[in-house]
Amino acid sequence: MNFIAIVILIALLFDFVLNCLADYLNLTMLREDLPRDFEGVYDPERYRQSQEYLKVNTRFGWFSATVDLILVLIFWFGQGFPLLDGWVRSFDRGPIISGLIYMAALMLLKALLSLPFGIYQTFVIEERFGFNQTNWTTYILDILKGLFLAILLGTPLLAGILAFFEYAGANAWWFCWVAVTLYMLGVQFIAPTWIMPLFNKYTPLEAGELKSAILSYAESIKFPIQNVFVMDGSKRSAKSNAFFTGFGAHRRIVLFDTLIKRHTTGELVAILAHEMGHYKKKHIIQSLVIGILQMGFMLFLLSFFISYQGLFDAFYMPRTSVYAGLIFFAMLFSPLGFFIGLIMQSLSRRNETEADRFAVQTTRDAQSMVDALKKLSVHNLSNLLPHPFYVFLNYSHPPVMQRIKTILAG
Ligand SMILES: [Zn+2]
Repeated sequence: MNFIAIVILIALLFDFVLNCLADYLNLTMLREDLPRDFEGVYDPERYRQSQEYLKVNTRFGWFSATVDLILVLIFWFGQGFPLLDGWVRSFDRGPIISGLIYMAALMLLKALLSLPFGIYQTFVIEERFGFNQTNWTTYILDILKGLFLAILLGTPLLAGILAFFEYAGANAWWFCWVAVTLYMLGVQFIAPTWIMPLFNKYTPLEAGELKSAILSYAESIKFPIQNVFVMDGSKRSAKSNAFFTGFGAHRRIVLFDTLIKRHTTGELVAILAHEMGHYKKKHIIQSLVIGILQMGFMLFLLSFFISYQGLFDAFYMPRTSVYAGLIFFAMLFSPLGFFIGLIMQSLSRRNETEADRFAVQTTRDAQSMVDALKKLSVHNLSNLLPHPFYVFLNYSHPPVMQRIKTILAG
C-alpha cells in the first residue's frame, strides 16, 4: 500500500467511526418525558413513536453504512477497479467512450447495491410509521425516470469533462469550470418547468383566502411572484414541506399538498415568508456562488492529481486514464470535502436562523411561525433533542427547539 492508499483508507474509516459515534451520542439523548414547549402539541404516544422512529433509522443506518464500507473495501482490495478497466478497454473505443462506460458501470453497480436498502427504507420503515404512500408502480417509475435523466443530462457533462482533461492540456481545469458552471445553471434554469414535472404534478394554488394572503404578503416585502404551486407530495409520503426553486421567469414557490391540509393560513404564510427570506437575504445567490467557487477549487486540484502515478498505484491500476483519475481523485478529495461540508452546514444553519428572523419580522406574527414549526416536527416525527455533535455533523437547520427559542427571544 502506498501513502495515498493509506490516506484514503484512513479517511474512509474515520468517516465511518465518526458518524457511528454521532449516531450513538444522539441515541443517548432520548428522554421519556416530553419537552415542556411541546406539551399539548405532541400526543405522548406519538412522541414515543418519534423516539422509536429515530432508533429504527439509526440502526438501519448503521447496518447499511457497514455493508457499504465492506463492499467498497472488497471492490478496492479485490482489484475491482483494474478488472473493470480491462473489460472496458477490451472494446477499444477510445478514451471518451471508454470513460463513459467505466463510470456508467460503476454508478450502475452502486445503484443496484443500494436498491434493496432503498426498498426496505420506504416499504418497511416508512410504512411502519405511517409515512409511506407510494406504491410499486410509482417507485419503479421513479427509478427508471431517474436513470433516464442521469443518462440524458449526465452523458454530455461527463463527456465534456473527459474531453477537456484529455485534450486541453494545462487549460483543462478552467475550461471545465466555465463549461460545467454554464451547464449546471442551464439545468437549474429549466428544472422547475421541464424536469420536476416528470416526478410530480404542480398545480397553481386556487384563488381564495390562502392565495390572497400569500400574494399580499409577497407584495408587502416586494417579492415578485405571480403564482404559488401545489405539489402532490402525498403521492409518495405523508411528510410535508415547502420550497423555493429556479430563477428568472422559471422561479417557483411550492407548497406540498400535505402541508396545506394541516396548517392554518397564518402558518402557511409564515412558512413561505421563511422561504422568501432565503431569497431576500441572498442566501440562494450565496450558495450558488460558493458552489461555483468550490467546483473551481476542486477542478484546479484535480488537474494536479489526474495523471499522478501514485493515485493509480493506490488502486492497483497498471495504466493511467482520465476517467479513472476522476474517480480516484473524488475518493482522495473526500476528507477535504468533509471539512468543506461542515463549514457549509454551519453557514446553512446560520442562514436558516436569519430566514426565520426575516419571516417573523415581516409577518409580525411569531406565534404562527412557532406553531408551524411545532406542527411540522410533530408530524414528521423530527428528533426534538438531537446531540450537539450530531447536529454539528449532519444538520442543515438548527434543531427545532433552538429555532423556537431564538424566534421567541425576538
Ligand atoms: Zn429554510
